Amino acid sequence: SAMFDKLSRSVEKAWKMVSKDGKLTPENIKEPLKEIRRALLEADVSLPVVRRFVKKVEEKAVGQEVIVGVTPDMAFIKTVNDELVELMGSKGAKDLEQGFPQVILMAGLQGVGKTTACGKLALLLTKQKKKVLMVATDVYRPAAIDQLQKLGKDINVPVFDMGTSASPVEIARAGIAEAKRQKVDAVIVDTAGRLQIDDDMMKELKDTKAAIKPTDTLLVVDAMTGQEAANLVKAFNEQADISGAILTKMDGDSRGGAALSVREVSGKPIKFVGVGEKMDSLEPFYPERMASRILG
Ligand code: GDP
Repeated sequence: SAMFDKLSRSVEKAWKMVSKDGKLTPENIKEPLKEIRRALLEADVSLPVVRRFVKKVEEKAVGQEVIVGVTPDMAFIKTVNDELVELMGSKGAKDLEQGFPQVILMAGLQGVGKTTACGKLALLLTKQKKKVLMVATDVYRPAAIDQLQKLGKDINVPVFDMGTSASPVEIARAGIAEAKRQKVDAVIVDTAGRLQIDDDMMKELKDTKAAIKPTDTLLVVDAMTGQEAANLVKAFNEQADISGAILTKMDGDSRGGAALSVREVSGKPIKFVGVGEKMDSLEPFYPERMASRILG
């Protein structure tokens, strides 16, 4: 796939620069580290993140005990791998928080793929044998409510809405009450998307959060926007305390800056990635898989 193509090639190039005999020294990893630094910047990872990353790789690589049978180039690439995993979040996929019902509040700016992500997540949970209800609260855009209803029909998941006759907070609250009545396992609450962050949006998100006490609040961001996506996760987290991110449109992102930056910039994990327009194209985010993709 095109995902991380360029970054992969650069890391491979850096790897080839590391000598196969002797051991790793500050001198002989200077050029490979420069190559990696350049590659990460090109991938749209922010400068402070790149600096910290390169420094850590350097410290770990040079200080390393030489293990019999492991050539310096292999030791170097393993260090890069380990640090990439660390950068994207510790090992393993970050699961949704438990709860009965699980309540997942979905936030995000318009056009990032939030509504699609609601449907994808609903389908994923359905496949785990969970009973799911979606709640449409975007009273500003009736089209968004229709879109969620249509998605729900396609994947056979009911959608609760009250049209535009109540406030988002009231609809969310009524949706949770309905979910409890129906004894569903998971409720996915779609919120209003806006063109940019504004105080009204944040207030509404905070109010909804306070009203329904979600087990997860996920910010949906578009991978194609690179480090801007990471900055959005940071901003939302600072204002509304989110639990993680969903990174959409990974299939169209050949650089990887968002995947590499979100955790380090915001302190919050990526929980899922969207890899296509179809309903079944949502995957848990595995830092180690992503690292091996980058390393080829
Ligand atoms: P919203 O405004 O955030 O609710 O965005 P939508 O869910 O309506 O999605 C906007 C567009 O992005 C639609 O055309 C989706 O099909 C598309 N989209 C969403 N997620 C993905 C993804 O993971 N990959 C690709 N290629 N397209 C996506």
